[in-house]
Amino acid sequence: MARIGFIGLGNMGLPMAQNLIKAGHQVEGVDVNPAALEKLKSAGGTAVEFVKVAAARADVVITMLPAGKEVRAVYLGAGGIVESANAGTLLIDCSTIDVDSARAVAAEAENKGLLMLDAPVSGGVGGATAGTLTFMVGGSAQAFTRAESILQKMGKTIVHAGGAGNGQAAKICNNMILGVSMIAVSEAFVLAEKLGLDHQKLFDISSKSSGQCWSMTSYCPVPGPVPTSPANRDYQAGFTAAMMLKDLKLAQDAAKAAGAKTPLGADAARIYSSYVESGEAGRDFSGIIRFVRG
Ligand code: NAD
Repeated sequence: MARIGFIGLGNMGLPMAQNLIKAGHQVEGVDVNPAALEKLKSAGGTAVEFVKVAAARADVVITMLPAGKEVRAVYLGAGGIVESANAGTLLIDCSTIDVDSARAVAAEAENKGLLMLDAPVSGGVGGATAGTLTFMVGGSAQAFTRAESILQKMGKTIVHAGGAGNGQAAKICNNMILGVSMIAVSEAFVLAEKLGLDHQKLFDISSKSSGQCWSMTSYCPVPGPVPTSPANRDYQAGFTAAMMLKDLKLAQDAAKAAGAKTPLGADAARIYSSYVESGEAGRDFSGIIRFVRG
């Protein structure tokens, strides 16, 4: 069993670390929030004060941090992972961050003889708790082979998407589809309301027709047709509108840098930005239907 340093024990990181502990790994966690460390200790992990201590002792370091800024600081800063880990240590960043930061950190890590993967996830807190996350992984085949058995303890679907940064590229492309499709499904339900067509009837037809998509069948933005969707609990998150906006902005930055035309992605980013500014940052992203309705 591996000794794993786990940095970032928030909504996602803590249940992921708990699944590693359940699988018999020794987890040493670091977080700037003392309450997160207490929860890790209750789950059978060890709290460590400094990143450099956890990194120097670990066979594998996993990070689950808010954004690129924190990832760069924790990996590349003084006393950070790249400076402190021993050559051959496997580093796995599961945060959702920009492709450029992921590639920059991987290059620094590889220069130091470390193995680095970007492995952002899909599946939310539910998937992290159940150990059913999807991992989209970028990095060398050697690093991927070493990581697979560990990722399998936290996820169900693990896809090697190519070289460094390709996991992040897959994540932002996927979430751009999700943001656009949630707005499209919401617009369809609002139009149906105006036309006197019942929500359930539209669902019964579209969920079996060419309008079928995950935003319709798994995460339906109106209450009723899919009992587990956040629409049935006043759009309690789930996946917040702020996080959707973060991912849509990452997609727009990447599209500009790469010269890709993504007009619907740009519109989705603008619509979610207005929704977040209306005071709904913490609401589930499917609550966008209330904004669409006006
Ligand atoms: P979170 O804010 O709950 O957790 C982040 C944790 O990192 C916090 O506990 C925070 O205290 C800690 N942290 C911040 N800076 C630190 C530092 N310098 N050193 C040590 N710890 C530090 O966020 P989350 O919901 O767990 O999301 C983490 C990542 O996963 C994000 O990139 C997010 O976009 C992505 N993600 C989240 C979800 C979701 O549904 N929550 C789904 C998919 C992907």
